[in-house]
Amino acid sequence: MNYDKLIFELSKKGRQGYSLPEDNYHVDGFSAIPKELLREEKPQLPEVSEPDVVRHYTNLSNKNFGVDTGFYPLGSCTMKYNPKINEELSGLSGFTSLHPLQDEKSLQGALELYWNLQRMLSEIAGLEEFTLNPYAGAHGELTGLMVMKKYHESRGDLKRKKVIVPDSAHGTNPASAMVAGFDVVEVKSKPNGSIDVEDLKPLLDDSVAGIMMTNPNTLGMFETEIREIAKLVHEAGGLLYYDGANLNPLLGKVRPGDMGFDIMHINLHKTFSTPHGGGGPGSGPVGVAKHLVNLLPMPHVKKDENGIFHIEGENPDSLGSISSFLGNFGVMMKAYAYILSLGRENLKQVGPLSTLNANYIKENLKDDYLLPIDGVCKHEFVFDGLKDKSTGVTTLNVAKRLLDYGFHAPTIYFPLLFHESMMIEPTETESKETLDAFIEVMHKIAQEARENPEVVINAPHTTIVRKLDETNAAKNPVLTYKMLKESEA
Ligand SMILES: *Cc1c(COP(=O)(O)O)cnc(C)c1O
Repeated sequence: MNYDKLIFELSKKGRQGYSLPEDNYHVDGFSAIPKELLREEKPQLPEVSEPDVVRHYTNLSNKNFGVDTGFYPLGSCTMKYNPKINEELSGLSGFTSLHPLQDEKSLQGALELYWNLQRMLSEIAGLEEFTLNPYAGAHGELTGLMVMKKYHESRGDLKRKKVIVPDSAHGTNPASAMVAGFDVVEVKSKPNGSIDVEDLKPLLDDSVAGIMMTNPNTLGMFETEIREIAKLVHEAGGLLYYDGANLNPLLGKVRPGDMGFDIMHINLHKTFSTPHGGGGPGSGPVGVAKHLVNLLPMPHVKKDENGIFHIEGENPDSLGSISSFLGNFGVMMKAYAYILSLGRENLKQVGPLSTLNANYIKENLKDDYLLPIDGVCKHEFVFDGLKDKSTGVTTLNVAKRLLDYGFHAPTIYFPLLFHESMMIEPTETESKETLDAFIEVMHKIAQEARENPEVVINAPHTTIVRKLDETNAAKNPVLTYKMLKESEA
């Protein structure tokens, strides 16, 4: 533990990696920082040389596991490869040096890109219009539910307080509905994970604001009764919200708007290949059907009849503002580059290839792992732990053992429908060789579980840190640099 601190704490009093001019608050004769905003005391920053900094970050990055390091089959998260061309294009200084308060005339290129993305997502989703403002999937859900609320309120339909959420839903769904001020009512899944229409029917009365669904559902199965569900919810006066985090397998093939959904969010940082994880910037655009367009948040980018782009800042029907300015523009640029570099036809290959990869893994592993729902899945599927339950080896153990073999773990203990859930999503960008290597290792772990369970139970063995104190990390996170006292170092 002390050794860890020693290698982490590199600061030495007086050491420096860079020198600034004495008077560094004045650039070309103008004061960059007003006097009243200047610090009175020096901030506590690490004092290190340039090689110290470079080695520190390079070593940290080597300790990390990422999509660029290895296979990352984290179910529901769509950890697809992040093409480097996206980074290159979004890093062009013409974009990165823009300021949101610049005159509209000087932003036309960026606004055109923004507007084009609004149109592309609308076409992909089969919906009328998109806002790109929300920062993440969960933020998109909240925005979409605020649209739902505003819709009922604007019609004077004030009784609609209930949002129906399936028991297999992603945790953000009920949370977003609560934050938006709705009461959450659960609808049960059938054994195959799809919504039980018979359980849904009695819930549909005049207090229903809407239903939140994902299709394919959390178990990776397509909701074949979606038309019937849409009809029933609409007849009851409710709206259908589509959690589009699972859009990958349907991309360009099936459109949520055509299935009957009124509102949806898309995770650009899943389906559209922009990086995510570690709390990095995301983007959760929200699309709506025609009758809800006016309620979308502001600002919004519009194109006039002369082909000039404008930032529309106010609209009396809008639910207001949910982000600063237009949202995470850098993330949108990456998604835009992704759509353009794939093109319409190749975009349609994403779904079939991710589906093929998921089914390939599933079929090859179901001899050793318990597959509670058999049949063709979409882009992901769920095992209920090892088939042989007598070994004492749990899903957590298998997940940790995978790290020893250089693979990221799948999503574990979600969905809650099974005790030992292990949710595997390979994505379309993985080669057959990678899938085969993963399958081989999963078989090997199953064999270890039978022959030498201790080695699996005590995993990981080869990682930089072994079992982590996850509770302490979550309860007492240290998120900023803190200089250690001499005695602690
Ligand atoms: C990832 C995910 C979300 C939440 O998206 P964030 O960007 O993490 O907020 C919501 N629903 C489903 C099904 C997801 O997989």
